Amino acid sequence: AIPLVVAISTAVSAQHGLLIRNRTAFEEARKISVLVFDKTGTLTQGKFGVTRYESLQKELDKKEMLRLAGALEQNSEHPIAVGIVQKIKELGISIPEADDFEAITGKGVQATVEGKSMKIVSPGYLRDEKIDIPEGAYSSAAETVVFVLIDGAPAGYVALADEIRPESAAAIKTFKDNNIKVFMATGDNEVVGKAVSEELGLDGYYAEVLPHQKVEIVKELQAKKEFVAMTGDGVNDAPALAQADVGIAVGSGTDVAAETADIILVNSNPKDIANLILFGKATYRKMI
Ligand code: ADP
Ligand code: MG
Repeated sequence: AIPLVVAISTAVSAQHGLLIRNRTAFEEARKISVLVFDKTGTLTQGKFGVTRYESLQKELDKKEMLRLAGALEQNSEHPIAVGIVQKIKELGISIPEADDFEAITGKGVQATVEGKSMKIVSPGYLRDEKIDIPEGAYSSAAETVVFVLIDGAPAGYVALADEIRPESAAAIKTFKDNNIKVFMATGDNEVVGKAVSEELGLDGYYAEVLPHQKVEIVKELQAKKEFVAMTGDGVNDAPALAQADVGIAVGSGTDVAAETADIILVNSNPKDIANLILFGKATYRKMI
């Protein structure tokens, strides 16, 4: 039988944006010593707005560059893609079809558009391919920058900005008050990682992280005797959520990440994890 206090707690959790898939996770939540958050849509709003976009080829108009980019991004659900498509719609530009669309895991997307082989990728992808980061791509602002490649050559870039969630600071204070260290693991660039980490006063961050590297991050922390909770959203995050002592899937929870996770954070809100930990501690104090 389910102990009454746990049954009640689980019901209360559901009202607070949490679905507990594994009852031991609820008990374990109070043992968490380190939390590793993803950034986009969890610590931040996950709503990217385009701040700048430029062509890198003389004969290519910047709006034309954006139109071609839109063809790829209308096939992607990444918040970066949503922001780019939104901008194109605001400009009243109609988006062409793309063929053979594919995601490049942790790095971007690719497809064929009007006979051109196109990619939109992270700065890490350019580094791997030994392509120099084009001049002017980075401003002094903490922006996410993605690069548009046509037939392998840089054709343009798009800079976007997201905002920190208003609830994040208070949640992080709760963790700190309870001696829980907070880290962030993001696929986004170093500049953005540092800015968000400093703004929120995190204990540290990992930037330009590929999905498989998240497993290593969890293992390293566990080797230091930490009891690790990690949040993740995509299918790619499932192994890291499985490795974590408490795996937390963010978002609607119909995919593989949700199936692997112990807890589903329905509204992707860090405040709900703070409440879970406080509630878990209070509940088990009463039981003992
Ligand atoms: P995160 O969830 O932390 O954003 P992802 O693995 O989803 O990490 O993405 C890592 C990076 O890959 C992004 O910061 C971006 O540079 C690039 N990327 C992923 N998907 C897209 C996309 N649809 N369009 C452009 N860039 C993308
Ligand atoms: Mg992701």
